[in-house]
Amino acid sequence: MPLEFLRRKGTGSPARKGAAPLPVAPQAVPEEALAEDHQLRLSFAAKTSAGVRLQGGPSALGLLSRMLDGVAISDIEVVQPRETSLTIASPAIIRTEEAAEWLRAHGAASPITRHALYVLELLDAVDPSYDTFACALLDGEIDTSGYPEYSAIVGGVVAHWDESTGDLIVRAVVGWGGRGARGDTDRTANKLLGRLLNNILDSSGALGLTAVDRPGGVPGGPTVTCQHCGYPNVHPRAVFCPKCGMRMIHA
Ligand SMILES: [Zn+2]
Repeated sequence: MPLEFLRRKGTGSPARKGAAPLPVAPQAVPEEALAEDHQLRLSFAAKTSAGVRLQGGPSALGLLSRMLDGVAISDIEVVQPRETSLTIASPAIIRTEEAAEWLRAHGAASPITRHALYVLELLDAVDPSYDTFACALLDGEIDTSGYPEYSAIVGGVVAHWDESTGDLIVRAVVGWGGRGARGDTDRTANKLLGRLLNNILDSSGALGLTAVDRPGGVPGGPTVTCQHCGYPNVHPRAVFCPKCGMRMIHA
């Protein structure tokens, strides 16, 4: 029975009926497939300064965009921390749910701001879940669609509220990169970072330099949720929320 089946298969095709079996050309089997190589190298970099402690209060955040005076070469955009409901937002396009949340939060921002957030969030230089970010193009060119070239430098100042004192902690941040690199970009970025830091220190209410501690305590440790804005990663003993700056109510 199985032999019958095989025979039928060999001669069953109407097109081949009566035809001689096709000759099989002898072919050398290569050790490895001949490969055409494809490669893309992307390189991103960022720098952040020490923090500057600023007297807290309702008007403190309004000062941020002024700290880019004389440094920004485009419009300045202030990016508010993301809505607390957008918990998985990430600029990773193949992770569609994360990318959709990211676009819901930042899709309406300018190309310069989206590029800056992409670079700085990828490098963990800003955390838009609680950081407020005043952002602009600082050096270099944009392409015809308005996106910064790889050699352009973007950035500005980033702020969150100190969990124990309620002061605003502001730091300077710059970033760049893409399909290329330029020798002098690092040096230019350092200069821009210094000018931004000076602007922060010159702001009214500046109390001096401070280390920037990531809010929320140890990663993976216990946290509580802010009663005002719903931010879930507040240190259990925090007096103020790092995202909205309101005083925490502890039971
Ligand atoms: Zn809050």
